[in-house]
Amino acid sequence: MMSEPTPFTVEQFYKFIGERKIMGVKCEKCGKIFVPPRPLCSNCLSTSLKWIPLRGKGRLLTYTMIYVAPERFQHLAPYAFGIIELEEGVRLPGIIQGVKPEDIKLGMILEVDFNLDVPSTWPQWPRYFFRPPQQL
Ligand SMILES: [Zn+2]
Repeated sequence: MMSEPTPFTVEQFYKFIGERKIMGVKCEKCGKIFVPPRPLCSNCLSTSLKWIPLRGKGRLLTYTMIYVAPERFQHLAPYAFGIIELEEGVRLPGIIQGVKPEDIKLGMILEVDFNLDVPSTWPQWPRYFFRPPQQL
């Protein structure tokens, strides 16, 4: 059976999240990677794109503490919301968990983990978060 072509949409990005995958879209012409995905390369305007898996590991670029959150996130507050730059060079925003606010440092290594218990009635809920690499 042929696998169905997957559209380069944010919806599809979240479907991959549901499969515990962080996927980006890579331009086959210039090599630029996009998250969230887009159907057209903003760098060279090529439409020759493909999905590639991202390793989901990167460095914290910036973060802010959220004390007053949207209602559905309020039970998590206060929480840190940051942007990490993945090893592939793309930036991904998300909530940081598993580290005390005073221990959060710019440049620290964080990994993507998944929170798939979230009700699917919130399709825009980021069903992933960042946490420090787990010690084995
Ligand atoms: Zn391109």
